[in-house]
Order: sequence, then structure tokens, then C-alpha cells
Amino acid sequence: MVIRGVVPQVATATADQRVRYIRALDKIPNIPPEDRAILEKVTEKFVFRANDYYLGLIDWDDPNDPIKQLIIPRKEELNEWGNLDASNEQSVTVAHGVQHKYPDTVLLLCNEVCGAYCRYCFRKRLFMDENDEVTNDVSTGLAYIRENPQISNVLLTGGDPLLMSTRRLTEIIAALREIPHVKIIRLGSKMPAFDPWRVLRDEELQKTFRTYSTKEKRIYLMAHFDHPRELTKPAIDGIACCLKNGLICVNQCPLIKGINDDPDVLAEMYEELSNIGCPPYYLFQGRPTAGNEPYETPLVRGWEIFNETIRRGSGLACRARFVMSHETGKVEVLAIDDNYIFLRYHRAKHAHLRGKLMVFKRDDSAYWLDQLEPADGFEYTPFSEGEYCNIAAD
Ligand code: SF4
Repeated sequence: MVIRGVVPQVATATADQRVRYIRALDKIPNIPPEDRAILEKVTEKFVFRANDYYLGLIDWDDPNDPIKQLIIPRKEELNEWGNLDASNEQSVTVAHGVQHKYPDTVLLLCNEVCGAYCRYCFRKRLFMDENDEVTNDVSTGLAYIRENPQISNVLLTGGDPLLMSTRRLTEIIAALREIPHVKIIRLGSKMPAFDPWRVLRDEELQKTFRTYSTKEKRIYLMAHFDHPRELTKPAIDGIACCLKNGLICVNQCPLIKGINDDPDVLAEMYEELSNIGCPPYYLFQGRPTAGNEPYETPLVRGWEIFNETIRRGSGLACRARFVMSHETGKVEVLAIDDNYIFLRYHRAKHAHLRGKLMVFKRDDSAYWLDQLEPADGFEYTPFSEGEYCNIAAD
């Protein structure tokens, strides 16, 4: 089954196309005025941003169009549900814009803007006026990384690091490359989906990739495609450009109701991603984030979709893991049978949890780890006294 469809605007795109950003719903004539009035209330709380290229991927004749679901607000976002920091990222924030959860890995939140705003974003709090978790000044973060020799992985995130100026991004990458123990630099970015020309037209950025993604120490692009229709010719060219200039590319995305909660959709995307050299890495169970109720799928249903997806694909297309990014670590969903849910800590904040297998009672209405009840004979006490490790000494 081919899900992607044809998008006329993309067929005429030029190599150096510039997207036009759109921040107001009244600039989108396809949204009827009566709907707009309701949705503007949503955007007062959760900001809206898109661009003409990405909006051009929408089939407006389809009321359930997945790209529309991804980018156009819905009134259900105002439902009371979840909280703004569902994974308690504040608890691993060690300095302004610096998150340190696993011993070897640090996140630098270095930009608070994205190419567009995904309605289901788990970090939507960063885009709110009162939030101050992101900083463009990464000097504190760089000092922290220098002082902690166990840090070998640095993820530039936010927001989207590829929305920073090339000069600024190059300065940060160059500074990281001067720290001998930093081996892998990761760029978490949805720009190949939102604006492929960010990479395609910028030769300075391509030069940065070639210079600092070396044979010994690679830069990884953690791409974020959610639906096969995002894999347009310019998007595929954008990934090819990253690969040609020395990046390693992988894809991670959440499972999102109405967008990719369908094995047909995910299997097609996984196959295509592996074909173009950007194979799937993680599929995330959606975090119970405020505003995200309309986009979330119960855990058991999510597992069924994922399991059916990986049964269909080639080996490379099926390397993804289905995980919850819980505040205690990355919890992989291994299997679910009629009675039980089998989980394992793929990554864990605390040493005693790493690799730990857990068995919970099956609950088809649960969305998140905290809602599950341990199976008889199993205990789950991730926050017991004395169990927080000293990250630096771990
Ligand atoms: S690109 Fe990532 S950080 Fe930006 S809005 Fe989408 S999910 Fe959130």
C-alpha cells in the first residue's frame, strides 16, 4: 500500500528554495473563519508556527489528513490532561540549558525555536513565554562537559539546533571537538522534514559537517520524520546531502494518534527511511504532556502497532525499539501477552535499574509506566531511598 501520495508543490521545488514562515492561522485560507476563532484560543496557550512548504503537504480535502493533524492546532489540546514536563526534565537539569541523565550523555538545549511546531511536542513548555530552560549561551554547558570526562555523547537539542545560524552552530560544534572525551555529537532535528533546504542550500553548514564529522568521531543527525508523506524528494535530497557530507543519519519519532498509529504507515516509512540511509532508531510512546491528549495512544495499542510494523519490514527497517522516555530512564516495551506487559530499562538514570526486566499486569487503558501495576511477585520501586546515583562518579 502506498500511503504517501503526490504533492504538486514539491515537484516544482528548486535547489535553493526558501520557505516562508507562517505564525498566524489567518494566513491559512483553508481554515474556515469559524474554526479559526476556536483554534486561536489554542494558539494563545500553545504557540503555532508552520511554513508554506510543509503546509503544502496537506491534503485539505481529507479532514483526517496526517500532516494537518501534525501541524494545525486542535481544540482538544485545551483538555485538562498530563503535565508540561511529563518526564521531569527539570530533575536532570544540572545547569542552565544542560540536562545530564545518563553518565555518558549530556543534552544542550541551545535553541528554543523549531522550523515549525509539532502539536504533540513533549517540550512545548520551552516555547512558552515564561519558560527559561533554554540558553543560547552554552559556555556553562561546555564547562560542565569539560569537567566531566565520562561524557562522550553530546546531543544538541531544544528546539531545533539546525535553526540556529550556521556560524553559531559551527562555534558550538568546534568547541565540543576541542574536548577530547567528547566522541559523538548528535543534532536532534526535524528540519529535514520541515525545511530540507536548510541543509541543501547552505554550503557553509555542509562544510561544518565535513570538517567535524570525522572518521574517528562522527556527528549523528537524529532526524525526525513522522509520516512517509514527509519523505518528499527535497527531504530525501536533504538526507543524502547530510550523508554525503559525513553525517550518520537515524530517525526517531513518537507514535502519534491520527498521524502514524497505523502499521501500514509506519512500515512504509521505516522501509523508505532504511532505503535512504536514515534507518529507524527509537519509536517513542507519547509522554503524558499537557495539551497532548488528542495525540496519545494507550501503551498496549502502541505496542500492537509497533509489533505489527516490525513484523513486516526488512532487518534494517526493523531495528527500532519502542520505548517510554520516563524520568527514570528509557524503558523498552519488550512484549505484551494476554496478561502481562514485559518492560526493560534500555537506559537508566540509576545504575541499579540498568537492564532491569520488569513485569506488569496488562492494562489496555494505561498510557504510561506510572499507571501500571506490577505483576504478582514483582516489585517496582524506582525511587527508593538511596537509589539516586552520583552521576559524575557513576
Ligand atoms: S521538532 Fe521536536 S522539539 Fe520541535 S516542536 Fe517538533 S517535536 Fe517539538
